Amino acid sequence: MIANYHTHTWRCNHATGDEESYVKAALESGFSILGFSDHAPQCFPDNYHSTIRMELEQLRDYCDTILALRKKYAGNIDIPLGLELEYYPGSLPKLLPILKDHGIEYAILGQHFLGNEAGQPYAGRATEDVSILDGYCRQSMDAMQTGLFTYFAHPDLIRYVGEDRVYRRHMRRLCQEAKSCGLPLEINMLGIWSGRHYPQERFWELAAEEGCSVVIGCDAHAPEHLKRMDAEDKAMEIVNRYGLRLLETVSLRKI
Ligand SMILES: [Zn+2]
Ligand SMILES: [Zn+2]
Repeated sequence: MIANYHTHTWRCNHATGDEESYVKAALESGFSILGFSDHAPQCFPDNYHSTIRMELEQLRDYCDTILALRKKYAGNIDIPLGLELEYYPGSLPKLLPILKDHGIEYAILGQHFLGNEAGQPYAGRATEDVSILDGYCRQSMDAMQTGLFTYFAHPDLIRYVGEDRVYRRHMRRLCQEAKSCGLPLEINMLGIWSGRHYPQERFWELAAEEGCSVVIGCDAHAPEHLKRMDAEDKAMEIVNRYGLRLLETVSLRKI
């Protein structure tokens, strides 16, 4: 692979290493594009605090750090400035102008929770509850329709363990929406090498049937995650098994 748009920093509280080490690791892997997309801050009400993302007050430093690296490594590697962002309708109207003011260049959709996160289920927790599956699909489709997102990170994060035909019916709709919005879907390398429940084969089969395009993303939470080419091989097996349309690079959508 020559491009990775899914890279975190220490600010999200569950990633390690300094930013420059990620750039060096990407160069060693032969990437020509390394997009940073740390977990976006959100505008939550005062009575709720998320520990898996940077604070709004850290956004300036995040942007300055990435832009300084872009300058330092100009001519060697492109470094777009992005975020991995949930679509939370209660937060977005307040958040979006802030992100624009800071010069954020792209956002990838990572729908980790439903609703507005507070008090809502984590999408990756096993459930037989159809309303959670349905809620995840509806919210993701709404997100895609905003036109804000460059691609959809680990769309198969939702962990529905009920009837397979119900899963397929819902997720097919999600794939159809991705296709009609022209939004690529990400095969997530972190999920592969760390043995998570995603990528889910049945999802990628649907994505292929619906003609969706796909990208491979490292979801790096440490510099060495940019060197897990064993996971890239596994991702390519999925691409080839189902005949998925793989994009080597994506065009960034302006937020
Ligand atoms: Zn993360
Ligand atoms: Zn991520």
